[in-house]
Amino acid sequence: MAKKLAAGNWKMNGTSESLSEIAALIAAHPNPSVDVLLCPPATLIAAASTAKGSHALGLGGQDCHANVSGAHTGDLSAQMLKDAGASYVIVGHSERRTDHGETSDLVRAKAEAATQAGLTAIICIGETLAQREAGETLAILDEQLQASVPDSATAATTVIAYEPVWAIGTGLTPTEAQIGEVHAALHSALGQRFGDGGDFSLLYGGSVKGSNAAQIFAIPHVHGALVGGASLKAADFSPIVTALE
Ligand code: PEP
Repeated sequence: MAKKLAAGNWKMNGTSESLSEIAALIAAHPNPSVDVLLCPPATLIAAASTAKGSHALGLGGQDCHANVSGAHTGDLSAQMLKDAGASYVIVGHSERRTDHGETSDLVRAKAEAATQAGLTAIICIGETLAQREAGETLAILDEQLQASVPDSATAATTVIAYEPVWAIGTGLTPTEAQIGEVHAALHSALGQRFGDGGDFSLLYGGSVKGSNAAQIFAIPHVHGALVGGASLKAADFSPIVTALE
């Protein structure tokens, strides 16, 4: 069975003052029945780990380097994230693909590095608006999926996040039919390649909020969400967690 996961991506937001949001989220969900994850900036992972104590809340990085160590100024390895208290890392977010020119081949190498370090990789894929309007969505996503997911991936070590680029931070969301079509296609493609496609958690991401979460989670093969803006405040993220429970 695919695990249910509510994941928050704080992106380049948050300083030590933001740790109070972690305390508030834990207070709102002392014993969550689904997996809950926050990916703060890497500078906060160690402090967040201390702040959460023994609570089941997961912590993740937002990116990692494909190498274990070396001359890569400013980069962080998956081992470093793990050492700071992370158990997950997002790879291939569309902002990394766009801002840093990351290819699916690089994303796959990062996912491999993540799992070798003992982290669960959340591999992001998504089409642009131009690609959707050209009717290329399923072909583009399959290309990204096949190239970004390593052969060594298993449902235990890998989560896939479908994030239409045009829905991220825009307030726009695909229709339920559009999300359903994509998630069914991902489920089937993973099943064909790995034989256990039914077990991979498939997250939807793109302008998820408390008011639309329950509808999105009711779509077949949607096992949770990767949430940006609405994960910054516990008051906004908590209703999304509740909708998944
Ligand atoms: C994201 O950054 O992965 C994301 C989905 O952002 P938002 O929820 O703000 O659209």
